[in-house]
Amino acid sequence: MTRRTFIGRSAAAVATAGAGAVYAPAVIAQPKIRWRMPTTWPASLDVLQGAALRFARLVEEMSAGRLTIEVAPAGQIMPALGVFDACSQGTVESFMGASYYWEKKEPATQWFCTVPFGMNPQGMQAWYFEGGGLKLWEETYAAFGLVPRPASPVAPQMAGWFRKRINTVADFKGLKMRIPGLGGQVITRLGGSVVLTPAGEIFAALERGVIDASEWIGPHDDLRLGLQNTARYYYYPGWHEPGTTLEFGFNKKAYDALPADLRHIVDHAAAATWAYSIPEWEAKNAIALERLKTEYKGKVEILALPGPILRDLKKISAQVVRQEADRSPMAKRVYASFTRFQAQVGAWGQFSEGAYHRLIAG
Ligand code: CA
Repeated sequence: MTRRTFIGRSAAAVATAGAGAVYAPAVIAQPKIRWRMPTTWPASLDVLQGAALRFARLVEEMSAGRLTIEVAPAGQIMPALGVFDACSQGTVESFMGASYYWEKKEPATQWFCTVPFGMNPQGMQAWYFEGGGLKLWEETYAAFGLVPRPASPVAPQMAGWFRKRINTVADFKGLKMRIPGLGGQVITRLGGSVVLTPAGEIFAALERGVIDASEWIGPHDDLRLGLQNTARYYYYPGWHEPGTTLEFGFNKKAYDALPADLRHIVDHAAAATWAYSIPEWEAKNAIALERLKTEYKGKVEILALPGPILRDLKKISAQVVRQEADRSPMAKRVYASFTRFQAQVGAWGQFSEGAYHRLIAG
């Protein structure tokens, strides 16, 4: 067929079928795919649950409705901490959570979320995409039939809410605290007992004295949970969570079954969610910190952890993180990769952000 006859026949087809109908068969041929995404957050957490909703909206927009994701808050279709297993088993196609919640399944998962005295969110994202971190995360989750993607970053965090002042590391002894991940292992080492209370239950646990202290995220999200009404002392900095990056998890069979363009859309929508979340988190925390200082003046004390405590925490963290790496072959590899990369970006960070922050603080 020559180009001329092809154009001639196409023109005839348009004339016969009527303009606008020409592309209809292509549209009809695209199957519509529907996923479910339970999260580990209550609906009241607008930044976290909002990130899942934003991700779903981006996927729907970019795919022109070919892939839609129905997001459900914690407890709506399953308990908060049931999402990993449900997605692994294919009960749901996706979930949003935090990888350090799954350390009992595989200790290596802790490094993919955050590490005490580790990297900030930019460093974490650099490790995932430029330092081989995401490849290791994919390998770790493949054993569970899952595909991970970094979601929104919520860090650096605050050290948490305490009913009593913390004056020395000895004050952590006997303390019942809600604190996940490697930071929780550090508190255990100091003689504290650690629980992994889901977000929606922290307020009640503190209020009833089931726990003595709890960290959650930072001023904005902590205010949303009402934690300022349960404990007087709000400590910083969040030594245990400097780079917390939340996760999207996809059932591997469901993800692999997507047409290539939809897989790309899912990946890019996750990256876009990260990019939109950083400014939202930054701006909302600044506003919430101001509210804590003014509206809650006299009721809440915002305190820095004393230098000697932070020095001890740093020393113990290094020991704990090294020992946690011995819990599995995968944890050993992830620890090595993370530590090597942090040494590299940390050196650059001292010349760039470190020097700059010291300058403007002075
Ligand atoms: Ca936290």
